[in-house]
Amino acid sequence: MEVKAKKYYFTDKDFEAVGGDEESRFKVGDLKEIKVEKLDLCCDEIDDAIEGGAIGFGDRKKEGNQNVNVNAYGATVVPEGVRFDSFKINSCPFCGKEIKVEIEE
Ligand SMILES: [Zn+2]
Repeated sequence: MEVKAKKYYFTDKDFEAVGGDEESRFKVGDLKEIKVEKLDLCCDEIDDAIEGGAIGFGDRKKEGNQNVNVNAYGATVVPEGVRFDSFKINSCPFCGKEIKVEIEE
């Protein structure tokens, strides 16, 4: 399996809409998100697992992804709700092929 992703950074445009003087955790030039540009799947099984949300690139349930790995996901029910965990995987759990991740800056 091969993932090609690209990093996107905050620009002036991102802050124009919210107003310049509004306090923000981010500033121009900070990493905004890493988006998948191309996904080459090794087998039908991983296709199903991605479709079902068990495996995927990056963070699960976060607005902006900053995680550079392909992960297996787990969910734990806690009193406050549900906690999502990510577990990095280096090879396909179904066919064993290596997972390659290429990130464009
Ligand atoms: Zn596979």
